[in-house]
Amino acid sequence: MIDLSENTNRWGMPPASRRVLLEPGLTSAYPEANALSLRRALAGYVNAPPEQIVCGCGSDDVLDAALTALARPGDLIAIPEPTFRMMPLFARARGLIVAPTAPRADFGVDVDAVIACRPRLVYIASPGNPTGLTTPAEDIDRILRETNAIVIVDEAYAEFEGVTVLDLLPRSSRLLVTRTFSKAFGLAALRVGYAVGSPELVAAVAAVRGPYQVNSLAARAAIAALEEGVSWMRQTAGYAVHSRDVLARELLTAGRQALASRANFLLVPLAGAPRVAELMRRDGVAVRAFADLAGIGDAIRITAGPWPEMEAALLALASATTEAAPVTGSSACA
Ligand SMILES: *Cc1c(COP(=O)(O)O)cnc(C)c1O
Repeated sequence: MIDLSENTNRWGMPPASRRVLLEPGLTSAYPEANALSLRRALAGYVNAPPEQIVCGCGSDDVLDAALTALARPGDLIAIPEPTFRMMPLFARARGLIVAPTAPRADFGVDVDAVIACRPRLVYIASPGNPTGLTTPAEDIDRILRETNAIVIVDEAYAEFEGVTVLDLLPRSSRLLVTRTFSKAFGLAALRVGYAVGSPELVAAVAAVRGPYQVNSLAARAAIAALEEGVSWMRQTAGYAVHSRDVLARELLTAGRQALASRANFLLVPLAGAPRVAELMRRDGVAVRAFADLAGIGDAIRITAGPWPEMEAALLALASATTEAAPVTGSSACA
């Protein structure tokens, strides 16, 4: 099975990370408290001191801890749709009230609608999942200025094109940026994520859980990735972006317009997407299907990988759409 459903790095992991994972290590000792060495290694990478960085068991864990730390049950969180599906689940589990906002006609975040919610928290993934679209720093800045909300910007895919709002951090103590080693760095199985923000926000997030969120092996692999694997990461991220762009052109030739992604995947609006994805899976290609996304309708999301995988995906898509053609009644025009 060619797995193009998770947006992970299809070229693997940095060789330096692979090497440290093979070294014998102590499993009877606890990890370093609060992942201090990893935060020190990250400091240079994100250009912020360790006091402004908190690590966790994937960015999922950091996002969930942020909701616990920074909001009370009954608080409102604005989440522009379509969005990363875990976030509304986490928010409801923490007792927050989710205010989804509809996308603009170009599928971007409707900043006016977010501000009009008068939220306590705002969550925006940029590049977004599943759209791949970025939200300009000016829009994030405007939300920070025109509300009192804490704004969480999820930059799980920032590495692919280097679009980030980290530069806004000195201007606001209410901005929290989350990142991960799961996507461009190729370490999804190890579960390492982090958030960067003001010392107050970061201390609040760190205070709601214990000191051992990142295990020793994961910390060592992530540190190796930062110390010796950044050029590997940038190179493979470049390959992914190239594959994505060629794939987008091929899809367009076949009459399908993908959204203008700046991450390592494409969202392709497609009526009957769940059935199409099922048929593609039969041909050995796994993609993620979405039904009735806000403003978009049904769509499939394809992770960009080495070109032979993209060719397999294009073939599987062509035969699946031919076979699924009689299926009607989906919501591509919603
Ligand atoms: C994949 C993804 C994550 C999750 O990353 P982990 O660090 O593996 O938990 C977070 N946010 C978005 C938008 C994602 O697509």
